[in-house]
Amino acid sequence: MDFYLGIDFGTSGARAVVIDESAHIQVQVRYPWLEVDSLVSSWQKALLTLLGQIPEQLRREIKAIAINGTSSTVLLCDANGNPVDTPLLYNDGRGSIVLNELRDIAPANHTVLSATSSLAKLRWMMQLPSFGEARYFLHQADWLGFLLHGKLGISDYHNALKLGYDVEKLQYPEWLESLQLPIHLPKVLPPGTPIGEVSPEISQQFLLPPDCLVCAGTTDSIAAFLASGAKSPGEAVTSLGSTLVLKLLSHTPVEDVRYGIYSHRLGDLWLTGGASNTGGAVLREFFTDAELENLSREIDATKASELDYYPLLKVGERFPINDPNLPPRLTPRPENPAEFLHGLLESIARIETQGYELLQKLGADSLNQVYTAGGGAKNPTWNAIRQRNLKVPVISSLNTEAAYGSALLAMGR
Ligand code: ADP
Repeated sequence: MDFYLGIDFGTSGARAVVIDESAHIQVQVRYPWLEVDSLVSSWQKALLTLLGQIPEQLRREIKAIAINGTSSTVLLCDANGNPVDTPLLYNDGRGSIVLNELRDIAPANHTVLSATSSLAKLRWMMQLPSFGEARYFLHQADWLGFLLHGKLGISDYHNALKLGYDVEKLQYPEWLESLQLPIHLPKVLPPGTPIGEVSPEISQQFLLPPDCLVCAGTTDSIAAFLASGAKSPGEAVTSLGSTLVLKLLSHTPVEDVRYGIYSHRLGDLWLTGGASNTGGAVLREFFTDAELENLSREIDATKASELDYYPLLKVGERFPINDPNLPPRLTPRPENPAEFLHGLLESIARIETQGYELLQKLGADSLNQVYTAGGGAKNPTWNAIRQRNLKVPVISSLNTEAAYGSALLAMGR
């Protein structure tokens, strides 16, 4: 039997999933983040612990491995791959101080022009004393892959998007090359491309086959998309977690920085999407999860609520309305809590519909099916309300674990 291993380094912990040739899960293991070690040593420990937790009989038949990290979590390494400083995490905004400088270099509205972009982080790290020792700039997934295959300076075009890599032309753009940054930018491969076999040390330590391949990885959100089961143009995945995140598969890339819309390449297709500030976090302000479940049962999902809210925790929205001053709208509030919840679920469903309409207006393929992931996905009443608004089938994701998506990537799906 051939097995494939996907490893997810997410925001709350690391997970690994082993699947067989039919994409069935054989084992899942996890490692929660503990605030004890330095970041890189906890990553390394997590990776090795996860490998060790996989039963030996599976490990002996793993054909390929792919790893996803959090997007824009980056680090500097010396010539031997040793990190020279603490990595910058996905949400670290210290790069804001170099944005003006980047605006003079990068084309207007480029993805790199954000305080948390990989390029802004690299530019910020260039002023650290440790930069003198640095030879390679890597994403989290690149470095974790290096720990397994031993090759430095290789990335994938999902992780490299926010570094400025041109995913249409498959090269670093001239404006970036011309900077002649005093560091090796990673060579960029399509996600899932075999990079090399596991090193002899890793193979011996974990009893992995010596010809077990380590593939180019991806980011956590793309891995979660891959896990969903969506594959064809027009298929989408809505994540109903604390916030509302939409992703739509399309023949054409769609970008609009005003709304924070950008596209990732997925083979011959493009994965476009946006993130709204509305979502489950607002529901949690008013209801416990048990109340959400119980009150939802009282709602008649076939009837549209007339309550027209814009549920936000604080002022400001980017997608599908770009208005940093948009106030939360949560009135009038009916006395009956089920009626209030109906208004909230209906309003978030309207915002979701508006989001997909905007993506289509900007050139994405017509929406024909929506998979759902996240805490709100388990609410059948909400699914029915959303289906009525979206006018396409709303179904549960096949799987919502990024590690499962990375395992599919390792399998070449
Ligand atoms: P995160 O984005 O934090 O990872 P999750 O995917 O875990 O979020 O989802 C948590 C959210 O799901 C919470 O904000 C909560 O309001 C929402 N949620 C939980 N249960 C339900 C439910 N039955 N119906 C609607 N939303 C729910």
